Amino acid sequence: MKGNWNSWTNRKVEAPEKFIDFEQKVVDGFGIRGNGRSYGDACLNDRLISMLKYRNTLHVENGILTVSSGILLNEALEKCVQKGFFIPVIPGTQFVTIGGMIAADVHGKNHSKNGTIGRWILSFQLLLPSGEALHCSPTENTALFNATIGGMGLTGILLEAKIQLETLQGTRLNQQCSAPTSLKQLLDELKADSNDFSVGWMDCLNSNRFLLFSANFDGNTSSKAQFKLTSAKWNVPNWKIKWFSSRLMKWYNKSYFKKNLQSDGSSQSVANYFFPLDGIRNWNRLYGKNGFYQYQFVVDESSALTCIEKVLAFFDLNNIPPYLCVIKKHGDLPSPGLLSFPFKGFSIALDVPYHEGLLLKMQELDDIILPFGGRVYLAKDGHLSADSFERMYPKASEYKTIVASVNKGEMVTTMAKRLNLVTIKG
Ligand SMILES: Cc1cc2nc3c(=O)[nH]c(=O)nc-3n(C[C@H](O)[C@H](O)[C@H](O)COP(=O)(O)OP(=O)(O)OC[C@H]3O[C@@H](n4cnc5c(N)ncnc54)[C@H](O)[C@@H]3O)c2cc1C
Repeated sequence: MKGNWNSWTNRKVEAPEKFIDFEQKVVDGFGIRGNGRSYGDACLNDRLISMLKYRNTLHVENGILTVSSGILLNEALEKCVQKGFFIPVIPGTQFVTIGGMIAADVHGKNHSKNGTIGRWILSFQLLLPSGEALHCSPTENTALFNATIGGMGLTGILLEAKIQLETLQGTRLNQQCSAPTSLKQLLDELKADSNDFSVGWMDCLNSNRFLLFSANFDGNTSSKAQFKLTSAKWNVPNWKIKWFSSRLMKWYNKSYFKKNLQSDGSSQSVANYFFPLDGIRNWNRLYGKNGFYQYQFVVDESSALTCIEKVLAFFDLNNIPPYLCVIKKHGDLPSPGLLSFPFKGFSIALDVPYHEGLLLKMQELDDIILPFGGRVYLAKDGHLSADSFERMYPKASEYKTIVASVNKGEMVTTMAKRLNLVTIKG
């Protein structure tokens, strides 16, 4: 059956066959897809295996989650909380698969405290393109373990993982919200903040509006047995209409700022604090049929202010309006993942409406952040050149050697072709 595969930002690849079933004999040149929440082309290819049906296992025992890779984070998190545990690292949406989380080595709002998810993976089963299933852990098949965490699905198919959990510290969070008056102040306050979770917001459409949200669990676990993540109140229909405009977003940002300032000292649900964007299902459709793009990069503390200011000036000069801008601080806890994204410093994610030529502009931005040692996040990337990728990821060649030892071109994605991550057959 013919069809299109989309990523979250609406990048598309035409597929001669919409699905290859996991059980079916795999043909060469297939990619793996979780729930398609990556923004660029990591989950795209003309042949894909969807892991969403691969969901046999989900249990928690002695503080360890054993889970199939196709299970969604929301299902796993509910199960963990009900049993008195929490997944130590969660990204900003509950609609990712466990396989997608491991393959991107995701980070959360607590990177300084817990690092990336890769640090919490005790082991996983990996189905190699050869058909052999390997048990990988920090002490078994270590090279493959390290290349798979953050490795964007090119070493094999992640089947089942064991994840170390943390003891639950509450089912709600006490939120603090302040309004720094400059980017410098926001970065300084993020750095000084000692709460477990923190994130910054910046209004790039109205000057001098910044918010810092930080939070800790409230210590009350009495209602854990009934814990459920709230579901979205609204759904954006697939009408291919562009709902956003700069003028509307300018207004929206002003009211968002006002409303959230009042949230200082409030109690927030897990869904509200960790997954605010999930409050509107299919919010990506608000950008219309052209979709959008996100430029997310990390840069060290000493360069952050100058580098971010240069990036913002570039958007301004080129008339590219960032509708949403989120800043996180990152600590120095290392990940086993060879292509893990974060390092000590700050990451900034800017969402912009897509237009033709935008990806070339993003390559110009790479040239601005590279001299500062900046690095683009592969889970959001659809534009990097192979050369910039190698300069940003110092372990790229070690990673490629390990991928080449198990994947002779059987597994490939649009990203893998663009960044020369695998040797393509023929
Ligand atoms: C609203 C939103 C907020 C986000 N916030 C954050 C955040 O705070 N922090 C963060 O780190 N990321 C964040 N992300 C990015 C997201 O966590 C990653 O892109 C994640 O990989 C998506 O998971 P997925 O299941 O949708 O995987 P897909 O997008 O389908 O695939 C992503 C990659 O994983 C590989 N893969 C998937 N499953 C498997 C498997 N079973 N075996 C081998 N490879 C596999 C794919 O080949 C692909 O390379 C966010 C995304 C959204 C939409």
